[in-house]
Amino acid sequence: MGKIEIFDTTLRDGEQSAGVNLHADEKLEIACQLERLGVDVMEAGFPASSRGDFLSVQRIARTIQKCSVAALARSTKNDIDAAWEAIKEGGNPRIHVFIATSPIHMEHKLRMTPEQVVQKAVESVRYAVNFTSNVEWSAEDATRSDWDFLVEIVTKVIDAGATVVNLPDTVGYATPQEYAGMFRYLRERVPNIHRAKLSAHCHDDLGLAVANSLASIEGGAEQIECTINGIGERAGNASLEEIAIALAIRKQVYQAETGLELNQIVRTSRLVSKYTGLAVPPNKAVVGANAFAHESGIHQDGVLKNKLTYEIIRPEMIGLSSNAIVLGKHSGRHAFRNKCEELGIQLDDERFHLLFKHFKELTEKRKEVTDEDIMALAADLTGKEKGTDAYELVFLQVHYGAQGVSTATIGIKTPEGEFVQEAATGNGSVEAIYQTIQRLLPEPIELMDYRIQSTTSGIDSLAEVYVKVKHQGHVGTGRGIDNDVLGASAKALLDAINRIMVKVRAGAVLATNHH
Ligand SMILES: [Zn+2]
Repeated sequence: MGKIEIFDTTLRDGEQSAGVNLHADEKLEIACQLERLGVDVMEAGFPASSRGDFLSVQRIARTIQKCSVAALARSTKNDIDAAWEAIKEGGNPRIHVFIATSPIHMEHKLRMTPEQVVQKAVESVRYAVNFTSNVEWSAEDATRSDWDFLVEIVTKVIDAGATVVNLPDTVGYATPQEYAGMFRYLRERVPNIHRAKLSAHCHDDLGLAVANSLASIEGGAEQIECTINGIGERAGNASLEEIAIALAIRKQVYQAETGLELNQIVRTSRLVSKYTGLAVPPNKAVVGANAFAHESGIHQDGVLKNKLTYEIIRPEMIGLSSNAIVLGKHSGRHAFRNKCEELGIQLDDERFHLLFKHFKELTEKRKEVTDEDIMALAADLTGKEKGTDAYELVFLQVHYGAQGVSTATIGIKTPEGEFVQEAATGNGSVEAIYQTIQRLLPEPIELMDYRIQSTTSGIDSLAEVYVKVKHQGHVGTGRGIDNDVLGASAKALLDAINRIMVKVRAGAVLATNHH
């Protein structure tokens, strides 16, 4: 059996998904979960892209020791310096440098000749190996590049010291046969290929990212780059969980295995979905809510007689258990702490105390509290701007008007510590809330997206609201959780505003630094 290394790029490529902006605490929590899942490498970010990204990558590298932490860099000294500075304290840190190799990218984006691109690629790898021997080099847009040019440049970057060579299908253009063929072509013609591992990185524009990733293994790839839930630029990346399960279920075909703890898949998928606000479609392979639902009578009958009739994946394999212990009113601190540990929730004393308090409040209102509820409560504590720098909801009162006009009265605490209140009407309760919050803020808010989800299926389920807003020239997302949809809506909007305020303040600092 061959070993396939899993390079997760949820925190870099995945974070580039439209509308996603993760808070540093959320990124760290996802990183810890990826470590638990057992990925071989996690790409934590692109440190040269912003001060915030740099700090977040650094924090992840300082925490994560069981897998390699990688950082992305363009082929410049500045980028490579920033990448190394951010990851150097991590376990087995990896610098990932890239440059485009396709005619269209070289000519129109880089405005460089192929010879200049080769030179720059070699220089950047040589520079990076001064810091570490763990250097990955990527040929951006490899699938639209000339294969013989790839042979030349790959040979040279391996000579310069690259130990992993990634051949991305950046624009999601390749078919499985072509992609496998490209890997085979390079394996056969690059003379020093035994000194490096080949890696695949696929985008899903044609819905082929997972198929292409799997095909690359047949072509000789030993590392697959992918993201949780397949999130990423445009149509997204190859989905980690689909690749992992395909390799596990069809082991005989691929003759390869990963080092992943498959039973962490569901939890990882839900955590990423919760923090990014990107919902997993119910029909999604492996992690969709319907992936194990049998609807037709014939199927149900078959599954009852023998599960294998219509089910090729055991739900327990990916960590879906139906016999989860449910907590309630009488569950004490000890049982609650055990449950949190089982769910992999990061806890320091202060956080545990707060979480337990919220849990107790919930048990006052409901008989049973599920794993999903606890994860939602924990997620609600992560990444919130608390204290003096943030807007905070103090009270909310909504009067629903059957004739179409609802009235909201809201009190908030401003970042300056003032208490302000206001009332406004709207064509519905949510609109009334948003009109009122708008009155409380000096600058206009434009609501771009609004979505409600429930944590469980019961009528007493917690409501989770996601919003995307434009405010002070920035786009930001926010989430709110509450027993009531209206409370969750108000909290989500204030959360988005608070996150945008962080960006505005960071921008102001940057502007002053640039003088
Ligand atoms: Zn990508």
